[in-house]
Amino acid sequence: MNDSENTAQLPPDGYDPAGLREKYRQERDKRLRPNGNEQYLDISGEYAAFAADPYLSSSPGGQPRAPRIADVDTLVLGGGWAGLQMAVRLHEAGATDFLIVDQAGDFGGVWYWNRYPGVRCDVESYIYMPLLEEVGTVPTEKYAGGPEMLEHARAIGQTYDLYSRALLGTTVLDVTWSESNSRWAVRTDRGDVINARYLTIGTGPLSRAKLPGIKGIESFQGQAFHSSRWDYDITGGDWSGKLDKLADKRVALIGTGASSIQILPHLAESAQQVFLFQRTPSTVNARNNCLTDTAWFRSQEPGWQRQRMDNFVQTMSGMPVDDLVDDEATAMGKRIADAISADGEVDLARMATIDFEKMNEIRQRVVDTVENQDTAASLQPWYGYFCKRPLFSDEYYPAFNNDNVTLVDTDGRGVDHVTERGLVFDGVEYEVDLIIYGTGFDANAYTYQAGGYELTGRDGVSLAEHWQGGMRSLHGMMTTRFPNMFLIGGVEQAAISINLPHVTSYQARHVAELVARFLRAGVTVAEATLEAEQRWAHEMARVHVDHSRYESECTPGYYNNEGSRDSGRPSFADRQYGRGPIGYIAVIQDWAATDVDRDIAITTAGGQ
Ligand code: NDP
Repeated sequence: MNDSENTAQLPPDGYDPAGLREKYRQERDKRLRPNGNEQYLDISGEYAAFAADPYLSSSPGGQPRAPRIADVDTLVLGGGWAGLQMAVRLHEAGATDFLIVDQAGDFGGVWYWNRYPGVRCDVESYIYMPLLEEVGTVPTEKYAGGPEMLEHARAIGQTYDLYSRALLGTTVLDVTWSESNSRWAVRTDRGDVINARYLTIGTGPLSRAKLPGIKGIESFQGQAFHSSRWDYDITGGDWSGKLDKLADKRVALIGTGASSIQILPHLAESAQQVFLFQRTPSTVNARNNCLTDTAWFRSQEPGWQRQRMDNFVQTMSGMPVDDLVDDEATAMGKRIADAISADGEVDLARMATIDFEKMNEIRQRVVDTVENQDTAASLQPWYGYFCKRPLFSDEYYPAFNNDNVTLVDTDGRGVDHVTERGLVFDGVEYEVDLIIYGTGFDANAYTYQAGGYELTGRDGVSLAEHWQGGMRSLHGMMTTRFPNMFLIGGVEQAAISINLPHVTSYQARHVAELVARFLRAGVTVAEATLEAEQRWAHEMARVHVDHSRYESECTPGYYNNEGSRDSGRPSFADRQYGRGPIGYIAVIQDWAATDVDRDIAITTAGGQ
């Protein structure tokens, strides 16, 4: 960092860390709920209508088909980025006898489901969209829009002939280990029965939508949907906005997370009246999107994407490397580098100052953009920068300058209840025609819960039972009693960054190479040993970085278990490998080279 940058970041006069910290605590306390994660409703059972797929009939998976009864080498659960990378790497490794199953009607995962107006990736497309080099896709923008993501997922499917090996629009009912033939038996809602030697699960942490537990949701007589099931039949228009059926409609949007801040500007442009119900203000940075310089893109040397992905997490963690991505996200990484010494020691006081400075800048951004200063004051976030996922938008704050947009600041409380006609907060009923729930996903569910099916290993023990006392695994991917099973893209005992496909790109190669190796050797059962699990638990503990102090002062959210410190569950960050993605990738690569035989108990077709 040079001197002029330092000067620009000096805290304003009157900067008072102790006072700010106290303010953060007060704001956190308004938002704390005694029921933590339990405050949300799953979109199943009574609320299953919210889960209905508006896109199925126009998707490949929406077409009628006969039930599939098959024996395959590998069943790949999930057709999002994790599952697609898994399938491609299996294909490349020569383990081509696989089927992919996904509930969605097409490939794409979150990009299949999230089609709301304005949906766009927050992470640079050149590092976020996997397999760009392999497929030849050139993203049109630095931060590509949702339709382009979905198109790329379909292109991966076509390039690798995955559609012929996919059961789309298909919900898994149960997955059971069968001792008699050493295979996983998988049943689906379309009558399929698949017996698979190996099972990979990549169903993602953002696949289970949640509703707020607000009294009376079911009584609303108007239209309502979750942001991940956007219904253009109701709103008109498309991804680009122009929601022409809303011109005479009053709309309520609940939530101020990554989804809602992208949706709001389009509602502002189209609806008669918009009420945005805010519980906690977000930190919204500048986005600064731009078109792709295609000459630059095409001049990249083979292997560039992986290198750029690695470089992003290195920069984000404050390592002294050239910043290739060079955006608002990495700018913060470079700032925190100032608080990290050459031998990795973190200067906590300096880190706190950088954090306060950054948040002050965001608070200033709000005041500079939003004309109504009462609204601006309500939109200012009061918590540490790393408490919630930082967001990026150049349209969100200006949307509040439209006369038809009203911010209903619930001051940490949330909506009081829903009536037949609308929403009530603080004794005022806001009558609306449409409620949009931008209330997010159960990111705290273990990977195995996301699919919503029962997963049963040896001796009839479910994975939920097996992990009752906490997750036990080898590298977050394998676990005892669940032979031949690999979890990828999990949020626990592995490592993730805000660029989710990064670590999965390594895990997919890693698992594909293992499966191919086992298949070649005629392995019928490959199971992590107890000692291997213990070794990994020990290594996790050895390098553990304790986030509890910082997080205990954070506003609640999915990062810190909704602030419920007594739940006994580690927080999102505390469940990760302490050395982050780069350390984790090195561990699994070294392990694959030397320790497979030590850590995996193997039975071959000959019975050994
Ligand atoms: P989030 O979980 O981030 O946001 C949910 C919102 O709903 C929060 O503002 C929350 O308030 C609010 N809420 C929940 N319950 C209530 C209630 N009872 N009353 C009022 N408000 C309530 O969900 P998103 O869908 O926005 O994003 C989820 C994740 O998906 C992101 O973190 C990101 O990882 C990913 N994503 C990425 C995108 C991208 O890259 N562009 C786009 C969209 C999503 P509170 O803050 O108080 O909890």
